[in-house]
Amino acid sequence: MKPTHAIVIGGSIAGLLAARVLSDFADDVTIIERDRLPHKGDYRAGAPQARHLHTLLIRGEQVLNRLFPGFERDLEGAGALLARWGLDNSFYTTGGWTPHFDSGYRSHILGRAELEWLVRQRVGQIANIHFVTETDMLGLIPSDDGQSIIGVRTESRVDHGHHNLYAELVVDASGRNSKAPEWLTAIGFPAPAETVINAHCGYATRWYERPADMPNHVIAIQARPSEGLMRGGGLMPVEGNQVVVTLIGGAEDYPPTDEAGFLEYARTLANPAIYDIIKDLKPVSPITGYRRLENRRRHYERVAHRPENFIVMGDAAAALNPVYGQGMTKAALEAEALGQMLNGRDLRQLRGFAGRFQKRSAAILEDAWMMATGEDMRFPGVEGQKPGLVNRIGHAYFDQVARAMPYSAAITKDFFEAMTMLRSGKSMLRPTMAARVFWHTWVTRRTRRDAHLSSGEWTTVGAS
Ligand SMILES: Cc1cc2nc3c(=O)[nH]c(=O)nc-3n(C[C@H](O)[C@H](O)[C@H](O)COP(=O)(O)OP(=O)(O)OC[C@H]3O[C@@H](n4cnc5c(N)ncnc54)[C@H](O)[C@@H]3O)c2cc1C
Repeated sequence: MKPTHAIVIGGSIAGLLAARVLSDFADDVTIIERDRLPHKGDYRAGAPQARHLHTLLIRGEQVLNRLFPGFERDLEGAGALLARWGLDNSFYTTGGWTPHFDSGYRSHILGRAELEWLVRQRVGQIANIHFVTETDMLGLIPSDDGQSIIGVRTESRVDHGHHNLYAELVVDASGRNSKAPEWLTAIGFPAPAETVINAHCGYATRWYERPADMPNHVIAIQARPSEGLMRGGGLMPVEGNQVVVTLIGGAEDYPPTDEAGFLEYARTLANPAIYDIIKDLKPVSPITGYRRLENRRRHYERVAHRPENFIVMGDAAAALNPVYGQGMTKAALEAEALGQMLNGRDLRQLRGFAGRFQKRSAAILEDAWMMATGEDMRFPGVEGQKPGLVNRIGHAYFDQVARAMPYSAAITKDFFEAMTMLRSGKSMLRPTMAARVFWHTWVTRRTRRDAHLSSGEWTTVGAS
């Protein structure tokens, strides 16, 4: 019988993980990537986000360890820092700093370019996966009856040659700017409906040298849109004795990319802890801005008339505001689901599969989408959907959660679990949690001291 072939468009995190899973089911897997892929953790044009602070959530790391057994050791070998959640991170929320406690959760911290390189090396070791780089995907090739996709048209960036590649399954993982809606309409299929919720957020990021005596401590400072403060930021020590600092502003209060403006912006966050640290650090990079951060979801799950044998994953299907750090974990969960759904199936007989996969992918997205868009709806001028009554109640409840967190390790641990996608965000509403929040809101909090820490105390927060 003719060998089976799967094509993945895009060689970033979603594409690499999809290819890893497909290598179990197809005789050959081809990744088509328009960039020339570096042979180390370098920046490349197709993944500009690598210059910014990136966190792989605990759930995402768990999936990577399942897809690539022993991946933890790869992370450690690359110099990833081990973060003990509660001890090695501090969040400054509406209620103040999260408490210093050991939640028992651990995860590794590594810059995005290095992380992608580790995944790419693992994928490169799989014998039936082939990379076709410096090649653009141009369009889909339909079957003679027009009902299925049987391949793709590509163009080389090296010699501008055009090629047709044929496959039993084509996966689009070409990211937020995916042209899949155009590819589909070009062959007579409808484009999916799109939902965009845009809080007009922007990033500005700079990397610094990490002094030898600086603790391995992650800091995140939340914006407070209801108090008129649209600015937040994060500081993360990473491999190679570096520290990455990303400042984030919503409602068009974009962080500047000039030296003085960047520092002043950091100083005016809800707490100046990040400013106090970086003002004395030696920068090792320019300041880079990024503004394409809207939540954009393409409803492939709702399309009534779709071609067989073509699915869309990762940011190409739904890109989230990355402030909440969910994108890579969502892509990993989708890849894992793809493997579960293909288990026991023949790639030559995938009738109905594409529709079922898009429904599963939409279900995986649901929680992350609710969290990202729900929080973004706090910003004035948010476009796409105004906060309704349910959102407003949610905001009021989560404000109380944030106010209780400095006083309660149990509530903070629950928050970590939801934030790192170990549990659904809805778990924050379960009765035991609500009772704890109620207790802290109406009883304990009134009798306790204010848990806000002064900026000078951050090293105490970080001390282990
Ligand atoms: C500023 C920023 C910060 C982020 N921070 C985090 C974070 O902290 N944690 C987290 O989990 N996620 C974060 N994300 C999101 C995360 O980067 C993505 O969710 C993740 O990389 C998965 O994306 P992807 O693989 O679907 O697409 P992408 O990473 O966008 O990759 C798409 C790939 O497709 C290639 N491509 C595009 N078009 C074509 C074509 N026509 N032909 C061939 N190849 C093509 C591109 O070159 C690229 O390699 C962040 C995103 C941004 C923008």
